Amino acid sequence: MPDVMKTLLLNPPSFENFDGGASSRWPATREIESYWYPVWLSYPAGLIPGSRLLDASPHKINWQRTVEISKDYEFLVLFTSTVGFASDLKLLRKIKEENPSMKVAFVGPHGHIKPDETLNSSEDIDFIVRGEFDHAVAEYAHGKPVEQILNASYKKDGKVVHNAMRPQMHTEELDALPFATDVYKRDLEIERYNVPFLLNPFVSFYSSRGCPALCTFCMWPQTLSGHAWRTRSVDNVVEEVKNALSYFPQMKEIFFDDDTFNIRKDRVIELSQKFKPLKFQWSCTARCHSKYEELKAMADGGARLFIVGFESGDAQILKNIKKGATTEMAREFMKNCRKVGIKVHGDFIIGLPGETKDTINKTIDFAKELDCETIQVSLAHAMPGTELHDQMSKEGFLRVEALADQGGHQLPHIEFPHLSKADMMAGVTRFYDEYYFRPKVVWRIVKEALWDGHERKRLYHEATDFLRLRSERLKWVQQGGDAPKTMVAVGGTSSANGND
Ligand code: SF4
Repeated sequence: MPDVMKTLLLNPPSFENFDGGASSRWPATREIESYWYPVWLSYPAGLIPGSRLLDASPHKINWQRTVEISKDYEFLVLFTSTVGFASDLKLLRKIKEENPSMKVAFVGPHGHIKPDETLNSSEDIDFIVRGEFDHAVAEYAHGKPVEQILNASYKKDGKVVHNAMRPQMHTEELDALPFATDVYKRDLEIERYNVPFLLNPFVSFYSSRGCPALCTFCMWPQTLSGHAWRTRSVDNVVEEVKNALSYFPQMKEIFFDDDTFNIRKDRVIELSQKFKPLKFQWSCTARCHSKYEELKAMADGGARLFIVGFESGDAQILKNIKKGATTEMAREFMKNCRKVGIKVHGDFIIGLPGETKDTINKTIDFAKELDCETIQVSLAHAMPGTELHDQMSKEGFLRVEALADQGGHQLPHIEFPHLSKADMMAGVTRFYDEYYFRPKVVWRIVKEALWDGHERKRLYHEATDFLRLRSERLKWVQQGGDAPKTMVAVGGTSSANGND
């Protein structure tokens, strides 16, 4: 075996145009085609010399091409998702037919939640890694036996063996990781990444890992990143910003895709002060707890937009999902964001525990009152590994086990006796209609695009996708809602279920 195994880190083409698990908190094929960066895979890619990070969907690399590319490698690290798992196993079979000696590790929340089931589902998988996998797969590529690798699970004599867990990385170790942007520069084309409410092209990476909040529906802090909030040092983040600015002069903004960027006031202020002389635009995830002083510092430091999960306008629902934020906090936050000039993309969810027709109306009114720049409305999804999943399954509200259809589009998943799937879907459509078909909102969106040809084209595509999806949703509701072809979230992002 050579010193370092030739390694391919793959965000697989589970479905056509699929925004997979290494890219998004909510792996799905989106109606408005959009992709997040495969940040999780970029760190081990940077730790393994000679490796390649292959983000198949955004680069339009299909199954056949992926199999072809894989022939040149000795070790495959595949970031799987619950939605894409069955498809990923089929792809792996093809890869192994062409390259039988290849070693294979599956990483990501699916294997973390169901390690035994994952390993027992295919002889083609050599091992999986639970939790953070940066060092585990890098050690294997450098020749360490799997028996000695922390976080790894594998089969021995037909039985699954789980190695001990590695303590999660904190500041010094996070700072010692390679920069994600070095790997983007080496392996990715940034023009391939598009998110409707961000300036494009954008580049995103993390300044921290984990989130201390306990939102019951949110998958990553309950699986991959954890509830301990672990930060990179301010100087290390600033260095990576400089890196990105020099590598990608065409980039319009940086997006800090942390679980939650604005947890601690002093850090946010220090970062913003150090960003200011660099004169660049940035956006980030945020909870609605930041006060005026902090928001002002962020605006002065170049902050343009926050993604904020408001989720519901009903106080009891916010308690039911352990949001740790109130409608009053949201109102205050929005008022201050307006004052300092930072835009907000607001995420809302329909169908959370406690939802009724009345609370849906209340949330629509609340959203209109907050009047974010753009919104995303999702149906509640109970991802395996989350508290919401356990609760819904115990209480008998998980009516459809499949999370997605054959194309990777999300499927309605939760249903209450007093609120059917069709009621919830109708609520989503009405939510968008009431929100976006207001003259001031139409003008707000159109005026942005008036002087910018690129933005105009983008807006046109998104608007046509939006209207097509709206009509499909309406059809679906009229037909009683049994076989939806497409799904729920307009805006094409992963953030509603798991950002802030
Ligand atoms: S939804 Fe946001 S605030 Fe809540 S746990 Fe997830 S990342 Fe944290």
